[in-house]
Amino acid sequence: MIIADQHLVKKMNQKLILNEIIKNAPISKAKISAITGLNKSTISSQVSSLIKGNIIFEIGRGTSSGGRRPIMLMFNKNAGYAIGVDIGVNYINVILSDLEGYISYSCYQDLEETSFAGMREALFTMIKTAMAHIPDSYYSLIGIGIGVPGFVDYDHQVVFTPNTKWNAINLQRIVQDEFNVPVFIENEANAGAYGEKNFGHAKNYENLIYVSVNIGIGIGIIINNQLYRGTKGFSGEMGHMSIDFSGPRCNCGNRGCWEMYASERSVTTSLTETKKMTHFSCEKITELVNQNDIETLNALENFGFFLGIGLTNILNTFDPEIIILRNDLIESHPIILKSIQNTITSRTYREQSDSCKFVISKLGKDSTALGASSIVIKNFLDNFSITD
Ligand SMILES: [Zn+2]
Repeated sequence: MIIADQHLVKKMNQKLILNEIIKNAPISKAKISAITGLNKSTISSQVSSLIKGNIIFEIGRGTSSGGRRPIMLMFNKNAGYAIGVDIGVNYINVILSDLEGYISYSCYQDLEETSFAGMREALFTMIKTAMAHIPDSYYSLIGIGIGVPGFVDYDHQVVFTPNTKWNAINLQRIVQDEFNVPVFIENEANAGAYGEKNFGHAKNYENLIYVSVNIGIGIGIIINNQLYRGTKGFSGEMGHMSIDFSGPRCNCGNRGCWEMYASERSVTTSLTETKKMTHFSCEKITELVNQNDIETLNALENFGFFLGIGLTNILNTFDPEIIILRNDLIESHPIILKSIQNTITSRTYREQSDSCKFVISKLGKDSTALGASSIVIKNFLDNFSITD
């Protein structure tokens, strides 16, 4: 005879009830019972535990379907806070979010120093500043999620970053030792895809591709609502897909990689040559576009063309419902998205390109950091358990 583990059953019931409150709050115990099929005494005792654990609370009384109006239950989104970090090749973005992903504090810093030691100092300072902004709450900081621009394996090890050359870095342990909370490391594009899926444009899509264009290009793949990581966790490195087999050598070892033609760096390199200027910011490019500067408009048109070449390959490979593009220049200059669309429609069957939406990121520069914080929140709630 199999004897059910009473403790495990209680834990599973509690998780089921908490999930319903998170999804459907404000909600009554009777409604939870109707949805889950659990009896009222089980629900009452678990709700008491969850209230004691400060993860839910009661509000007034809802509408009645006859008889006494019920007390409604709410999810306490302020029970704890997560820190989400986006470490780019040349910047760090840190956000502090509640348990529903609302940002209560954020800070952004350009990085002069791309060595790991230089980055770590800035990272620790920024995390400490974010921690100082955590409001009074029962669980305070529940964890730190970090998106990095490179190869991250299933054990949260940063195996290699092609643009900053970090090798075999145990970033999870380094951050955990300093802050003593759970730490999760994810590839920046995977985290961005996760952010858009949870809080952005992709909430209602099951199959999506998130394309992050910065110094390099990374993509996050979600298939049937699940992040696709590949065997070792290295999927989505399509910035290193060759679009010219005899092209110049890339940092990754391949030749003619897509990101050598279609990254932000390719735009600034081409403008540096044509405009004889050394430093181009997004603001400077906007100023030149506003002056109808032909060379700048050509550079942006070319940027869109090369993005379109790689995106055509992605469309042919995955047939996704939606492709979400994340890049400051694309978000500021519609000419680039137009050029992308022109390139794709001239190279694909109409039915194929028409069935996929191309949109710019809803979360903008916070997509990776929010995705990283949502990994922390999911882990906290998945493992949440209050015992009597
Ligand atoms: Zn490459």
